[in-house]
Amino acid sequence: MTNTAFSTLPLNPEQLSNIQALGYEQMTPIQAQGLPVILEGKDILAQAKTGSGKTAAFAIGLLHKLDVTKYETQALVLCPTRELADQVSNEIRRLARAIPNTKILTLCGGKPLAPQLASLEHSPHIVVGTPGRILKHLIDKQSLNLEHLNTLVLDEADRMLDMGFHEDIMQIINTTPQQRQTLLFSATYPDQIREISDAIQNDPLDIRIETSHNENKIEQIFYEIEKGERTQTLISILHHYKPESTVVFCNRKTQAQELAEALWHEGFHALALHGDLEQKERDQVLVQFSNKSSSILIATDVASRGIDIKDLSAVVNFELSPDPEIHIHRIGRTGRAGKEGLAFSLFMASEAHKVNRIEEYQNITFNIKQTSTLKRRENFKLSPPMITLCINGGRKNKVRAGDILGALTAKTDLPGKQIGKIDIFDNIAYVAVERPIAKQALKILSEGKIKGRKFKVRKLR
Ligand code: AMP
Repeated sequence: MTNTAFSTLPLNPEQLSNIQALGYEQMTPIQAQGLPVILEGKDILAQAKTGSGKTAAFAIGLLHKLDVTKYETQALVLCPTRELADQVSNEIRRLARAIPNTKILTLCGGKPLAPQLASLEHSPHIVVGTPGRILKHLIDKQSLNLEHLNTLVLDEADRMLDMGFHEDIMQIINTTPQQRQTLLFSATYPDQIREISDAIQNDPLDIRIETSHNENKIEQIFYEIEKGERTQTLISILHHYKPESTVVFCNRKTQAQELAEALWHEGFHALALHGDLEQKERDQVLVQFSNKSSSILIATDVASRGIDIKDLSAVVNFELSPDPEIHIHRIGRTGRAGKEGLAFSLFMASEAHKVNRIEEYQNITFNIKQTSTLKRRENFKLSPPMITLCINGGRKNKVRAGDILGALTAKTDLPGKQIGKIDIFDNIAYVAVERPIAKQALKILSEGKIKGRKFKVRKLR
């Protein structure tokens, strides 16, 4: 077993006693695996969530290298939201107590510029902030200089990409020295994270505390149904388990479309994804489902190929696939990133051979339940937590995620954390907002301006 005492690290005695004073007795797994490498100056790509102790892992690393006698910005931490940036700054401040005179500055959108500009007159040693505002200081105001940066941290990188900050991040990185340490933290590992890591990191150590796809974390439940019971059984499953986001797989596109309509009729927010949709419709369906403003996606295998959907609570095989490999692929979309996943399959007695084939393929015996065990709830509503606002301007109008976020939060009291994923296309943009603030957000965007221009904004059903 590895020794997880902080004293095994080559830290100075003041920092060790400060860490002790903070009550950190043992390193968390991300710290035990990451810190020795971080302190050697190497890059890491780490899968770590809030609560893992990731902030202390990178903060101890960047403070270790800091030279406070030099009034230059030596470390930059990019965060998706103002709230996270504040938390990160606080944690760095606590750990910086062992190093007198460390100047740490938080630069986030939605805050007035003047005090930030005043603070930047003397370069801070460490900057923590959101990409849009950092870029504003770097390029528009030329108030921030990253020529002497030696540590760059991307925190919650997946969320920053979800919010459309990719271009901003790359522009920021272009102003930093090639010779630098880059630490990338992300809760999930979509292909885009791998791509960004390849582009900006130097042979990073890949640290994953939890496996991202563990079949044991998927609970498979089979329901034996009679002819004509599929839709009602699916509705009972939704009542009983209340999954926040579900993908339902159908074998045929007409079935997918009809099922979406039937669920919609029953008050569920369900959207169909199949080969007959135009590109724009398909984008819109995926945007609404992935930003949590639709709870149920009804898909055919072909249409769902290649899409990366995170945080699925459940997968339902409305009809079993005749191919066990497709079955495994379908259910693998739930239970990701160390989360528990539920996979439900409906079959009729005449399809028992398909169940047997999957059992043989997976070498397990399935738990087969009666539909009578599913309980319906009274006055049940499975409302998605978010609503999508659609803006009739996109990349070609130079609308960026930061502009939309800024328009929503700068002169208002809307907290950034109630704003979800932002998706920008060529001529259209979508922003997800929490349901309770949807009306207010719609008003702000329709009556105000984005990038000095008025845009038409509407709420998507
Ligand atoms: P984070 O995952 O960075 O959001 O950190 C989660 C919380 O754990 C924060 O409140 C930290 O102050 C705390 N923390 C970080 N490292 C340790 C440690 N080694 N032992 C105890 N608490 C810690």
